[in-house]
Amino acid sequence: MTAAAVDWARVRADFPALDQKVRGKPLVYLDSAATSQKPRVVIDAVRHYYERDNANIHRGVHWLSEQATKAYEDVRKKVARFINAADPRECVFVRGATEGINLIAQTWGRTRIGAGDEILVSTLEHHSNLVPWQMLAAEKGARVRPIPMNDAGELDLDAYAAMLSGKTRLVCVNHVSNALGTVNPVARMAEMAHGAGATILVDGAQAVPHMPVDVRAIGADFYVFSGHKMCAPTGIGVAWAPLATWESLPPWQGGGDMIASVSFEKTTYAPAPARFEAGTPNIEGVVGLGAAIDYLTALGMPAVAAREAELLKVFEAAVRGVPGTRLVGTAREKAGVVSFVMEGVHPHDIGTITDREGVALRTGHHCAEPVMRRLGLAATARASVAFYNTPQEAAALAAALGAVREIFRT
Ligand code: PMP
Repeated sequence: MTAAAVDWARVRADFPALDQKVRGKPLVYLDSAATSQKPRVVIDAVRHYYERDNANIHRGVHWLSEQATKAYEDVRKKVARFINAADPRECVFVRGATEGINLIAQTWGRTRIGAGDEILVSTLEHHSNLVPWQMLAAEKGARVRPIPMNDAGELDLDAYAAMLSGKTRLVCVNHVSNALGTVNPVARMAEMAHGAGATILVDGAQAVPHMPVDVRAIGADFYVFSGHKMCAPTGIGVAWAPLATWESLPPWQGGGDMIASVSFEKTTYAPAPARFEAGTPNIEGVVGLGAAIDYLTALGMPAVAAREAELLKVFEAAVRGVPGTRLVGTAREKAGVVSFVMEGVHPHDIGTITDREGVALRTGHHCAEPVMRRLGLAATARASVAFYNTPQEAAALAAALGAVREIFRT
């Protein structure tokens, strides 16, 4: 379906949380990069799971356990189709992008990174794709080096090329920046990393919810994302890698479900993905993720991306139209994020005042302090859009920002 063929007003009505007033004003939710709202089908799927299918998975022979196990494993297949993985077993369920990256650091990283090795991390990274590597580097005597970016928020590929060397073990980059909305050329960066013999991890937390993602076309070695930013519940996400990679790695957490056999003399581990899913997992989260994938698939990710591209233009124009504002992050390729500052007004004040008008913005460093430092800012205000937002909400944002201006003019 194209964006024009979708009835977006009806789509919006699928999201109960959007249909409410806050502080007496209609809610204008512009914080989907932090977490998306959830359509009724996802909420219903979780409720149905608890009302009908609740049981622990993998271990039971009884009917309910079989139902729950089937539901859980069926979603793995849906995830694989959604990101074009070659095999569902390549998709490991984790708590979210953060846990996925930590899993990779603790398994791949601990066995493959040594003293003197280099980990190249883009300046645009969320702390979750920097701090685990700093922790690992400190343990191993490795070095984390930032891939620089320009003033628009685009990574400097020439500098990146020059940094790649025989010492480079790993490159870490997000597919889309949560702070600025930059869409990074991850396929090209993967090719360059591989040319230097390095591994590349792509953080897709802000990409999978907003555009078609094909992990094989990107060619990364690892790809992670979070369910809660793509209409699914919190506490569920996916770490993807080719099956051969997972099979070559040791487990990280020990416990039930991740073993083949256990004795005091010798314990052996289950194959992937179970090896990396110790303990009772977030079954309701997986069920909700499956419903979210069905929902997004029915809309069509190309239509979602096209709708959000239109909205991005409208929201950027709305912010630009308010005197004294400046967009932060003007990359040629952007998705869903309008970061901005207003002369003489602290971003936190912007967020507090717009909230009184019912407009939910995020303010601060967006868990990306190096981005802010590079741009000489302490913080920005950020409006992030999803397909369920409307052009009218851009007008509401502009009006709320106008109110901020009024207050600070006096
Ligand atoms: N990476 C990016 C680009 C993000 O935007 C976020 C969440 N803001 C994360 C990683 C971390 O995701 P989570 O908190 O769901 O683990």
